[in-house]
Amino acid sequence: MDVVERVEKKIPIGKAALRDFVGGYLAGTVTKQRMTAFLRAVCKWGLSDEDAVYLTEVMLESGERLSFTPRQYPYADKHSTGGVADSTTLIVAPIVATAGVPFLKMSGRKLGHTGGTIDKLECFRGLRTDLTVAEAEEVVDKVGAAIIAQTQTLVPADKALYKLRDETDTVKSLPLIASSVVSKKLASGADVLVLDVKTGEGAFMDTVQEGAALARLMVRILRDAGKRAAAFLTDMNSPLGEGVGGVMEVLDAIDVLEGAKGRLRELSLRLAGKLISLAKGVSDEVGLSEAKEILESGKALEKLKEIVAAQGGALDLFSEETRRYVLSKTAGSVLSDKVGYVGKIDCVKLGNLAREFEAGGGYGMVVRVKVGDHVREGDSFAFLLSERAASSDLLAALKSCFTVTDEKPADTPLIYEIVT
Ligand code: URA
Repeated sequence: MDVVERVEKKIPIGKAALRDFVGGYLAGTVTKQRMTAFLRAVCKWGLSDEDAVYLTEVMLESGERLSFTPRQYPYADKHSTGGVADSTTLIVAPIVATAGVPFLKMSGRKLGHTGGTIDKLECFRGLRTDLTVAEAEEVVDKVGAAIIAQTQTLVPADKALYKLRDETDTVKSLPLIASSVVSKKLASGADVLVLDVKTGEGAFMDTVQEGAALARLMVRILRDAGKRAAAFLTDMNSPLGEGVGGVMEVLDAIDVLEGAKGRLRELSLRLAGKLISLAKGVSDEVGLSEAKEILESGKALEKLKEIVAAQGGALDLFSEETRRYVLSKTAGSVLSDKVGYVGKIDCVKLGNLAREFEAGGGYGMVVRVKVGDHVREGDSFAFLLSERAASSDLLAALKSCFTVTDEKPADTPLIYEIVT
């Protein structure tokens, strides 16, 4: 019986069969159609935890495993399962590096409606994300952190499947996300890992229960492999920050590094604090207070500039003049036409609209509200930034992302749980 049938009939697959199937896809003997059928079946029927672990191992074994020169503290890395307006990496990396913990992250591009860190980094003119691992280590030597694109040899099975999942809308699956994230983290050489598992409207895991199951499975595999790991289960019913789309997300991160408050700052501090505490073996309180002190001192802002410059990027996005210029290019805005509470934000649609708008040359959008906010008639939900006016179709589609209700929706916490 072949692997697709086994998934459909919920019969254990086993490591050897998964290895042959995934290996066959990479070698070209398993067709794109067959792999898509497998991905669709896994999205629909799931996999047993045992087969999810085997799939992770098979993916990990498809490429090389990195190891870094030992330093005072172990290498740290973070990974999000994907959200909207999530630029935490650009805040966490400089905080952790300033704390003396080496940070080397391989990031991905957009997946489904979510933006990738590599897409954001490329907004810094000239910044190289295609550094080799040796070059990235040199950047870490110099400035403490580097963020690069996944190399060809690191989990090639994930590289191929990630792309196919994006094309075939087969992203939303607990075992596929777990194997994708964990195989990369095990291969990437860091010993301290914090995962941000998003749940809600704009996440690949709709419910808190599903998100918690994903978080537990990933932490278990990482800990079994000897890593110091934790997963934060966090809310994605509203965009995390205000900027959606590459440039706007970068500006959002810079805002936080310059002192802006809100959920993006809060979550970034908690993730950075946890990495510091795991790497240095100190309590969560001590890790968090070090992260806060670094952020508030302005040192993390200077550190991000150093990281961007060390990877060859221009610093103009840090200038007030550039920010003012981009923010002056309002290409249309959407307003509430009634009084009430923001009851729901369709973050998937919003993320997709932002990507399309960006692909057409726009800078991105700024979303002014979160679920639960009170709005009056005429209050702004969001506005678009571009050199060209936005079409009325786009503005109508953007407006339809926001639902106003008479009743205030129940509050959701930013962090539901931390799985260790
Ligand atoms: N991030 C990944 O690296 N993989 C997924 O499947 C989802 C988010």
